This record gives sequence, structure tokens and C-alpha cells, in this order.
Amino acid sequence: MMQQPVQGLSAAAMLEVWEQGEGRHPLDRALLLLRLACPGQSFETLCEWTIGQRDACVLELRRHTIGDRIEAYAECPACRNGLEFELSCTELLASAVTSEATWTAVEQDGRSVELRRPNSRDLALAITAANPEQARRIILSRCVRRGAGDAEAAAWDDADGAALAGRLGELDPLAEVLIDVRCEMCGQQWQALFDIVTFFWNELHARSRRLLQEVDLLARTYGWTEGEILRMSAQRRGLYVEMALS
Ligand SMILES: [Zn+2]
Repeated sequence: MMQQPVQGLSAAAMLEVWEQGEGRHPLDRALLLLRLACPGQSFETLCEWTIGQRDACVLELRRHTIGDRIEAYAECPACRNGLEFELSCTELLASAVTSEATWTAVEQDGRSVELRRPNSRDLALAITAANPEQARRIILSRCVRRGAGDAEAAAWDDADGAALAGRLGELDPLAEVLIDVRCEMCGQQWQALFDIVTFFWNELHARSRRLLQEVDLLARTYGWTEGEILRMSAQRRGLYVEMALS
């Protein structure tokens, strides 16, 4: 799937992708990140990657840009206590199913059906839905079809729909990452949803703003151009920032 190893984002690339993606939908942001991570793939191909394949690639990009360790945050639904928990990109990647978006035959209530893992195009249509129920129907209409051995032409009822949506999730575990969390304050246990695209984008947002502040300071202090400052290693830039502030 990924022809060449993913490279971390340079300071200049980070600023560029952040600028392009601000104000855009997370689906578009994810595709912007994929284009940078996998320059050898066509945009059409990237749109058809399953959400699991997409998120695996974003995890790789995050690992090479910032590092393996993720410090995530969740709020206890019972007492509103804020909790920090650690994740590892490598460990999350271990649960990824990176196979292609092919049709998989399964049995559902004695009927034979075929499922396909959702991709960015499916989600782009689903987000136009008026409510989550309609969104699920859109996904099912695109990602579920009657199996070869199923003569029954009856439509799926809501219970079937829920079961099939669950089966789709099982096919692509990385598409929805749930982390078991326990609150230290009140003992409440729940599953927190972890979305690498949103998480990494927030990090890129914070880092881009900091980079621009550094550029601003160094340009005013030393007269260097934005390009010159961004081409420095983070270490060298950091030292100049310290000196400029002292
Ligand atoms: Zn709590």
C-alpha cells in the first residue's frame, strides 16, 4: 500500500499544510496530510483508501514528525475530571488492518452479504446527511451489498442496519479507536474515542503558530527571511530564539 516510507513534515511543509487546511473539514485535512505523506499516490487513490488505511498513514506521519508517544486527554463523563493518558503510534498501528478496500463476504441473520470498508468518499457523502441515522444509511447503501447466495430482495430494517454497521467497524478496527479509560477521582470506566486526524491537526495548529512567532522574532532581530528561518533545524532555531529573548 505505502510504496515509500513516510517522511516527517519539515517546518515549511507543516506551515503550508496548516495554512491549506485551516477552516476545512477534517476529511479534507486528512487528505491533505495523505498527499504529503504519500506523494507517489494519486489523489483518486488516496480518496479510496479505507479510513483505517488513511489513519494508519496519518499515524506514521505523526510518528515521524513529532514522535511515537501521544499524550491524550479525556474528560470523565461522570465527574468532569480531566484525565491524561498515553498512547503509542506504534501500538495503535499494530491493530491496523491495512488491506485494500475489497468486498468481504459475511453472514448476517442467515443472509449472505458483502461488506466493503468505508473510504473518504463514502464519509464525504455521509457528512451531508441531516442526522446520524441518515448518515449510517448512506454508508450502508454504499458499503453493503447482497451476497451471491442471497436471493432475498427485502431491504434491511433498522436492527439489520445497526448490526451491519457494527460488522463494518470490526472489519476496520483503526477506523474507530476506542481507549479504555478509568477515572482516578470517581472510578468511572468508559471508552474514549481517539481520532488521530483531529489530534494531529491540533498539534500542527499549535506548532505552526509557535513557528510563526519564532519567525517573527528572528526576522525582526536578525533580519533573516522566513525561508531562511524555516530551513534551520529546530534545535538551531530554538537556540537563536533563546538568544534573541535574552
Ligand atoms: Zn470521574
